[in-house]
Amino acid sequence: MFELIVATGNKDKFREIKSILKGLKAKLYSLNDFSKAPKIVEDGDTFLDNAAKKAVVVSDFFSGCAVADDSGLEVDFLDGRPGIYSARFAGKKAGYSANNEKLLKLLKTVPFKKRKARFVCCVCFACNGRVIKHFYGYLRGYIVEQPKGKNGFGYDPLFYVPFYEKTLAQMPAKIKNSISHRHNAFVKFERYLKGFLKKNKPGI
Ligand code: IMP
Repeated sequence: MFELIVATGNKDKFREIKSILKGLKAKLYSLNDFSKAPKIVEDGDTFLDNAAKKAVVVSDFFSGCAVADDSGLEVDFLDGRPGIYSARFAGKKAGYSANNEKLLKLLKTVPFKKRKARFVCCVCFACNGRVIKHFYGYLRGYIVEQPKGKNGFGYDPLFYVPFYEKTLAQMPAKIKNSISHRHNAFVKFERYLKGFLKKNKPGI
């Protein structure tokens, strides 16, 4: 069976990705399944740089195929910030609430209509240290003025999705995971990988 390493040590992310890819005939591993795994510094200038670096390094290290993602929030009024700096918007050691507070402060005088934002996810697939293909997924919405909801993580309490009239943190995980930027990017990857596996033998 085709073996694919999901280049993450984040258990929640791995669970979410496994559930999206459940239709694939593949055995999925995360970096937690190995006693030795390369340490990767995400120092790229774009989501693609970071996702590609993870997929290339991991697929090379294990001499196989790997998939990696990088994601973040882009706010129109802030010219796309925090972007690739989403996790450390308020500083290297900043947690989710400090990042959210900084975002609310920067948008304090901005009316709702101008608080458009999108989540971006870039997924990169690589085999034996070589990028094969990458995919993008998006989720569009608005940044609210006060955090709402207790579910999810990161910027979820601030990210309002008009169709559901809720922030991501007010939605059950099942709904969020069916519309998220990560879901949208990994669904494209899944479709591609099904075709790729028909053409290429496992082991590449
Ligand atoms: P990563 O790609 O998992 O490293 O995500 C980088 C950062 O983007 C996270 O630390 C969050 O701040 C933000 N982020 C990415 N995806 C989400 C999401 O689905 N909800 C809320 N915040 C997110």
